Amino acid sequence: MSTVKAWAAPSATEPLEPTTIERRDVGARDVLIEIAYAGICHSDIHTVRGEWGEVPYPLVVGHEIVGTVTEVGSDVSRHQVGDRVGVGCMVGSCRECENCKAGEEQYCLKGNIGTYASKDEDGTITQGGYSTHVVVAEDFVLSVPEAIPYEAAAPLLCAGITTYSPLHHWNAGPGKKVAVVGLGGLGHMAVKIAHAMGAEVTVLSQSLKKQEDGLRLGADHYYATSDESTFKDLRNTFDLIVNTVSAELDLDAYLKLLRLNGTMVNVGAPPQALPLHVFTLFDQRRSFAGSGIGGIRETQEMLDFCAEHGIAPETELISADQVNEAYERVLASDVRYRFVIDASTI
Ligand code: NAP
Ligand code: ZN
Ligand code: ZN
Repeated sequence: MSTVKAWAAPSATEPLEPTTIERRDVGARDVLIEIAYAGICHSDIHTVRGEWGEVPYPLVVGHEIVGTVTEVGSDVSRHQVGDRVGVGCMVGSCRECENCKAGEEQYCLKGNIGTYASKDEDGTITQGGYSTHVVVAEDFVLSVPEAIPYEAAAPLLCAGITTYSPLHHWNAGPGKKVAVVGLGGLGHMAVKIAHAMGAEVTVLSQSLKKQEDGLRLGADHYYATSDESTFKDLRNTFDLIVNTVSAELDLDAYLKLLRLNGTMVNVGAPPQALPLHVFTLFDQRRSFAGSGIGGIRETQEMLDFCAEHGIAPETELISADQVNEAYERVLASDVRYRFVIDASTI
């Protein structure tokens, strides 16, 4: 085992603070990664504040990790020392169930092993990316193309794949009208990716404050949801709505914006149950769906797609001691559009 530096949440109510954690020895199929950058996902905040359930404190979060391989186990074939790699929300799964075999490890029937707060194969609790190093099984480590700027790549590992996967699954592309609700970390990636896929993209944000940005990122239209006329003007319009909002939302109001056979997919993860009138679904044969991150193969496909299309997240680089302030800004919808921790400051 080795002792490495990290920033951890001591409890649901205290700020994150510097600490040290243990990383396991590099096994035959493991790689050791020296972390360069770690993105801040809203899920990190939901988790450390205990909004989604019990948390094994102290906990190091962070599941948008990029870094360089510094050591490989004897049986490793996918990665070499010096490679630029990434780790997202999962570090393991059973690898044997039908979903794992189909490359959908995020839906492993035995439960995937999350990058943090999960029970690892050795019984220890996984600790995430706000840290200097991590040891991960090679088949859960992605290759980060050189074409993607190093300091901007980390958010692709969660925000990128979580939006790419539903856009791909529900066939966003030419002739399709796609709405993105919430222009935060996930939302801004959804706009860039849906635009690159060829869809006509509309942002539905709480206000028009970020309109100029939204259009620059690739949106064709931008509406404020605080304006009641938005819901009248856009009724029966969209083939696909990707809801990235981290808080409670009036689902019926948004579902009514779907045209015949349209789907609204929820990737936003508010802790509370959301009410919904089934009659809204009967009309226009609408669907309401959810989607969780993406499999390893699809994550690599997304990274290659972003490299090919010149897509990278818009990031604000911070030092580790700014993490608590960054959390407050995310909660105030004041992030442009993803905070990334420079791991050399940990
Ligand atoms: P974020 O950067 O905070 O973005 C969320 C956006 O939602 C905000 O920028 C804001 O956009 C909008 N919003 C926030 N509060 C709102 C409210 N009360 N009413 C209406 N809109 C509101 O968060 P994120 O990192 O993108 O994550 C978004 C959600 O996705 C979180 O719940 C996260 O846990 C979840 N998530 C799920 C998965 C998955 O696998 N399904 C993966 C990653 C994250 P505007 O300012 O434009 O209105
Ligand atoms: Zn995330
Ligand atoms: Zn499985």
